Amino acid sequence: MGYNFRCVNYKKIIIFFYNLFIFCSFFARVQDNSPLKIEGALLVTPELFMECKAKKKWPNICYVSLVQITAEQRTKVALDKSKKISKETGQPEGKIEGEKKNYPVKVLLCEEKRSSQNFSWQIESSDGFLLSDITKDTKLFYFTANKLIVTIKSGFIYVNNKRYLRKNLKIYPKSGYLSFGGNAYQGNFLITFDKDNIYLINKLDLEDYVFAVLRSESWPGWPIEVNKVFSIAIRTYVVYRVRQAKKCNRLYHVKNDNSHQTYYGHEFKKRNSDALRKAVEQTKGILLAYNSEIIDPMYDSCCGSIIPSHIENKVDFEKAPYLCRDYPCKYCQKCSLYNWKVCYTLKQLEKILSSQCPHIKNIRSLWVSKKDKAGLVKEITIRCTGHTYKISGDKLYTFLKKVKSFCFNIKRSGKTITMNGHGYGHHIGLCQWGARQMVRELFDYKQILAFYYPGTSFVRLS
Ligand SMILES: [Zn+2]
Repeated sequence: MGYNFRCVNYKKIIIFFYNLFIFCSFFARVQDNSPLKIEGALLVTPELFMECKAKKKWPNICYVSLVQITAEQRTKVALDKSKKISKETGQPEGKIEGEKKNYPVKVLLCEEKRSSQNFSWQIESSDGFLLSDITKDTKLFYFTANKLIVTIKSGFIYVNNKRYLRKNLKIYPKSGYLSFGGNAYQGNFLITFDKDNIYLINKLDLEDYVFAVLRSESWPGWPIEVNKVFSIAIRTYVVYRVRQAKKCNRLYHVKNDNSHQTYYGHEFKKRNSDALRKAVEQTKGILLAYNSEIIDPMYDSCCGSIIPSHIENKVDFEKAPYLCRDYPCKYCQKCSLYNWKVCYTLKQLEKILSSQCPHIKNIRSLWVSKKDKAGLVKEITIRCTGHTYKISGDKLYTFLKKVKSFCFNIKRSGKTITMNGHGYGHHIGLCQWGARQMVRELFDYKQILAFYYPGTSFVRLS
């Protein structure tokens, strides 16, 4: 009896702790509605868990240990969810055929005139380099130096003052990373020519590129859900440009500045970016499409509640109906740049504008003389002594670096010109601060992308 009594107690204790462990783990995971993977090849969703609990029928397993599900499983779950969205919106769901999962991206780091003799590119790597022809990777040359100086003389490539016999060059790090201009880069470098120019290009994997751009385009500490939104937008943006570059045989796919997406390599030692890496992994390969075609997902920092469909002559909405959002984003109103104000003296304005347009002298006044339906400035009239000039809103935005967007008014008070405006950027596509607020209001990344790019669906690289 004594033996049986002890046995029953042990059994109850084990069952009690087993249940406690399961419930604690379940409630910890159910918060983000992720599936639970129970080691022993059992995948249990929160719904199945509740069903088992109601029926009091538990799978016959010897030991239980909750483990983190892999990025691949997470992506699968995300895609399954996105399929539901697609069905709801009536959009097709599919794969982009003919694309590989290991998708290389070529980012332009530097370009020089081929005729130029006055530049050198300094590339560093701690353990030396492997050099090869771009098309013949088998012929690799090992350079033990930790610094390469690449120059051009009479149209030929010179490496550390020695002429390199081939017309293009591929540079790998022996180990670790390549550094250029103070930044560290994954992948390899290509040095190649076209008729007029020589290019220094960083070739790296798509997902590594998305992660690196996310580090520049996102903000530290923002939640993973909003970084998932940005990851998909950044990935789609570059894949769209890769396909464009292939059509016109351009040697690189994207530039590394904000004319495309800001890319500074990987800044490996600078800041903790585990959350950003997770956002990229959890959306791996996912892209936005409209009618099965990859979209051009423009995005800006703060849209200022401008309605994109009212914007004239900036986007061809027939080609990009997913950018023709006909309702405002009001989620960015708490952003500090939702309303902005900048001041110039007439002298300051004259100095800037006359450096671009020499005939602009002795400015007396200026005002906005034409706006489009969305409220974006189309034309500015500048009154000078004896003359009146007109310049476009786009030009003024380009010339005056303090002006944040195309939506503003101009007021003159004495010798001071004040510009009051809304938003930061071009007002089209995804609004980053709006997306941040939508996450606060419990929208998920699928709903946010559907809000900013109406009619789109998710596809992924096959
Ligand atoms: Zn907005």
